[in-house]
Amino acid sequence: MKSGDGEKLKSTDYRPAPFSVEQVKADFPILDQKVNRHQLVYLDNAASTQKPRSVINALLEYYRHSNSNIHRGMHTLAERATQAYEGTRSHVAQFVGGVLDEEVIFTSGTTEAINLVAATWGEVNISEGDEIVITEMEHHANLVPWVMLAKSKSAVLKRIPITICGHLDLSNIDEIITKKTKLVAVSHMSNVLGTINPVKEIVARAHAVGAVALVDGAQAAPHMAINVRDLGADFYTFSAHKMLGPTGVGVLIGRKEMLEEMPPYKMGGEMIREVRFDRVTWNDLPHKFEAGTPNIADVVAFDAALTYLDEIGMDKVRLHEMQLTDYAMKKLTELPSIEIQGPQEPDQRGGAISFTDRDVHPHDIATFLDSKGIAVRAGHHCAQPLMRVLGKVATARASLYIYNDESDVDRLVEALVEMRRYFGV
Ligand code: PLP
Repeated sequence: MKSGDGEKLKSTDYRPAPFSVEQVKADFPILDQKVNRHQLVYLDNAASTQKPRSVINALLEYYRHSNSNIHRGMHTLAERATQAYEGTRSHVAQFVGGVLDEEVIFTSGTTEAINLVAATWGEVNISEGDEIVITEMEHHANLVPWVMLAKSKSAVLKRIPITICGHLDLSNIDEIITKKTKLVAVSHMSNVLGTINPVKEIVARAHAVGAVALVDGAQAAPHMAINVRDLGADFYTFSAHKMLGPTGVGVLIGRKEMLEEMPPYKMGGEMIREVRFDRVTWNDLPHKFEAGTPNIADVVAFDAALTYLDEIGMDKVRLHEMQLTDYAMKKLTELPSIEIQGPQEPDQRGGAISFTDRDVHPHDIATFLDSKGIAVRAGHHCAQPLMRVLGKVATARASLYIYNDESDVDRLVEALVEMRRYFGV
């Protein structure tokens, strides 16, 4: 299977799972526990995924054998730590389809990566009357920085609406992305609706009017093969903790020529070439954007997460999730009181399934499910404007990953049936 083909496959064509989910499950020690006297079913993966033993061990190994500050050290441990840290950078560069190592900037997460672009590229390139285009389905991380930048620069924030099926409505795209547009910032996959957006098409439209395109890949990079060059994105962002890696590590991929022109984000050690009392010059990429001591240990352990995903293969990850999403959507649809948000077609969406029950508040759904050992999220999912568009105050969200299987979905559905009996509705 070619990279990216997973998207086009029809989920029903493939069963059983393209890899042994049972074996994968066994690699995640945290899953082997009871919560509230029930075997844990973890369905909160869009918020943060669990970590395999190899990632946990990599973290321990780093602190046991290699811990040191990186780059400037002239001793063996510093050299070892630097190699491990830079090794992850190269791995990330390959994982996203092949970019230059210096185009990979480590941040604390997607949120920081987008803030970095807003505070540096945005600060220099957005002026009064310019237009920034986002979509109605953005996570606050890809929304608030642009709202604030537009306010401070007297720029205009425009948005691509969604259809009632939860797709982006691109019918008026030429009126939304115009010659005045300087930036288009769009999520690759919605954390609420699950929608996989046609980002390649949107990026092409942005470029056609001379605008820059940023893609928030926080929900896509963990779940499908990514090729940043093929998408054409000028900036692409994601978070390690949503793809088996540790918390506190994010990635900003940027085009080299753009990163070189941008001013630095944070000032301090490592990001400089020469410092005088009256003048400072900046270090080369990527160091210009990594001031101070970075999150070395977690970056090092992130490498093991990428290796784990590589070994399964991202096309198989996508295929498994597509099949399981299909199964889950069909099962949930059999419950008449449940309403699911977002596209119905599993090949057009990921495994973040937001739903409501006609008679039970989403917070009560999550609390009841927790009492049965099932972890889901409920709330606005950091997408308040989208919730308003949907006419919901909140939804419950079950989100799937590589260690989930049909038995997890069955447990969810059985618990939802029991919940209605419990609440007497
Ligand atoms: N963008 C999307 C689509 C997300 O789902 C999230 C997190 O849920 C973020 C951005 C922010 O990621 P982080 O909290 O890791 O910075």
